[in-house]
Amino acid sequence: MSAMREETGELAIQQLVTRRFAMASVTYGLALMLTWVAVAGGFYEASTASAITHSALIVVSQLLFFWLFHRGINLRFKDPSLTEPQVLVALLWLTYFLFNLGSARGSLLVLYLLVLMFAVFLPPKVFIRYAALAFLSFVGLAALDYYLQRAVDSTVFLLQASVLLVTLIWMCLFAGHVYRLRQRMRQRRFALQAHQDTLRGMMRQLEDLASTDELTGLYNRRRFLRIAEGELSRLRKGHRFGLALIDLDHFKRVNDIHGHAAGDRVLQTFANVARSCLRDGDVLARYGGEEFVLLLPDTDAEQFSACCERLREAFAKAEPEEVDIAAGHLSLSIGLTLVNAGDDLDAALQRADEALYRAKRAGRNRCEPAWITSDA
Ligand code: GH3
Ligand code: MG
Ligand code: MG
Repeated sequence: MSAMREETGELAIQQLVTRRFAMASVTYGLALMLTWVAVAGGFYEASTASAITHSALIVVSQLLFFWLFHRGINLRFKDPSLTEPQVLVALLWLTYFLFNLGSARGSLLVLYLLVLMFAVFLPPKVFIRYAALAFLSFVGLAALDYYLQRAVDSTVFLLQASVLLVTLIWMCLFAGHVYRLRQRMRQRRFALQAHQDTLRGMMRQLEDLASTDELTGLYNRRRFLRIAEGELSRLRKGHRFGLALIDLDHFKRVNDIHGHAAGDRVLQTFANVARSCLRDGDVLARYGGEEFVLLLPDTDAEQFSACCERLREAFAKAEPEEVDIAAGHLSLSIGLTLVNAGDDLDAALQRADEALYRAKRAGRNRCEPAWITSDA
């Protein structure tokens, strides 16, 4: 099970790394293309820009595109939001890029909106801050042009700035709406999770109730058979477990003489005695009435006989509380057998039952084995 999980985990990591490399290559290519198309097309007016500045620009744009596409596409829009520093770097790069663009600046203005689109999942206050930064950067470019005494068409600039402003205001409203929606969805998810946890807890309680015997606190027959089937199916070749049917002797008499409540006490006493005799992995269940069933994992004929004998002796010495039965007046009979890999559980229970019957016939208060030839 854990090996399978590890395997799928490794596979997921492998896929992620492969996809990251693929996306990185594509986006680096796109960033290079965009920059060099601008340079080659004569839109890039950075005549003073040195080769180093160009290279730095490309590296930054590569990183930016990597972030944009990696977050936006690689995660299949599950959560395409950029982190705050990523948005900041993207806006700065774009401003620098637009600063060096001549007549193409207006058409590439839309890139501000693209960057902010990936920031739409940030809290509204943060988004408004970045929207304002985008607008101020664009206005700042015009101011810089003016300062550097570049030719500026003020009508075109006013038109571009107005379009940018209106679109940014709409985007801010949209970001607020998206943020509130996400908050509501998150709250609903938490509420659903809480309901689910409660349901799971109730299911577990129900399962416990349905598989436990109320009087003794032991497993009931249904649960025991499920456990035994499981043990049998997991049993490796050459291994075996012990199976014993235990029946309290003359229990009807206890009820008749001391009353039903006293009988109940005796059943509880048996459960307590058996618990103290058994180890953690041993499975004891109430099979019905005053009959119990025991499964001892990974044992052999000698160990199993000794264990059953110990249990028989301990019960014979038991003194139930609040019942007028002295030690030595209680006894039980056990029919025991071993179950090998490939055995049939019903057949094994039948063997144990026949052995129990022999124990009763032979005078009770004894353990009677039903070994199959290979066990003896
Ligand atoms: P044997 O030694 O042959 O097993 O005799 P026995 O009297 O123990 O066997 P029998 O099967 O005749 O009687 C079992 C009795 O167990 C009958 C039934 O009333 C009683 N019994 C079954 N379940 C309970 C229970 O939950 N509480 C009490 N007090 N008695 C129960
Ligand atoms: Mg009995
Ligand atoms: Mg019985």
